[in-house]
Amino acid sequence: MLVSEVMLQQTQVARVLEPWRRFLDAFPNATACADAPLSSTLRLWEGLGYHRRARALHRAACVLRDDYGGAVPEDVVALRTLPGVGEYTAHAVASFAFGQRVAVLDTNVGRVLARAVANRTLGAREACDLAYELLPASNVASHNQALLDLGAQYCRSKPRCTSCPLARSCRWNLEGGPDPAPLSAAVSRRQSAFEGSDRQVRGRVLGLLRRGDASLSAVGAHVATTDPARLERIIADLVADGLVERAGRRLRLAGS
Ligand code: SF4
Repeated sequence: MLVSEVMLQQTQVARVLEPWRRFLDAFPNATACADAPLSSTLRLWEGLGYHRRARALHRAACVLRDDYGGAVPEDVVALRTLPGVGEYTAHAVASFAFGQRVAVLDTNVGRVLARAVANRTLGAREACDLAYELLPASNVASHNQALLDLGAQYCRSKPRCTSCPLARSCRWNLEGGPDPAPLSAAVSRRQSAFEGSDRQVRGRVLGLLRRGDASLSAVGAHVATTDPARLERIIADLVADGLVERAGRRLRLAGS
């Protein structure tokens, strides 16, 4: 659950399924991941992007091995101390893996709450308070999953009200008015464009280094950049992020 939630951060389910299976085959528990070098996790991260998550997950595995005997803690406070585990991820793991009585709030759930329950725009704090008010006496994980699915399948930016199971009780649908969640800005950030971005170049650099060490000129040819200064900056960022190691003009995955 922890691995899947980290992989699902800013990434669609369809892209996560194969890497998730691959990762769990290689590392069936946290200790196996922690005992392997970081480069192994970076290789298994192929196709997912946002590689800082891979480094954070490897660090989290080391914390789990060293401080928790290889187990994942059950409560949100302890989960939040793990590298790469933010508010949403901690709540999702606590709810779905351990059945803790916590609300799971992401962009999709924030939209459902603002439209179906409040019919007004909600700030992050209000949305969180409302999510907790709505928790049922039992089956909390199912309730959380249902809200996530409603937001993902029906209450999208362009809502599918005619087929939505909440249509007959949804306040916005019944009362009308301006869309209470036009941007769903209370609980999430928008992704920037990928094509031509530094993120894309970072992915290409790491893609080459997954196959083995490479020279700076080979990396430049692989990413097909005509701007050496930009490539130098991106590589410096990868080194600073702990994803790449550099010795002169030779580059390799960190922890190889
Ligand atoms: S009826 Fe429409 S606005 Fe209301 S929850 Fe369903 S999809 Fe969202």
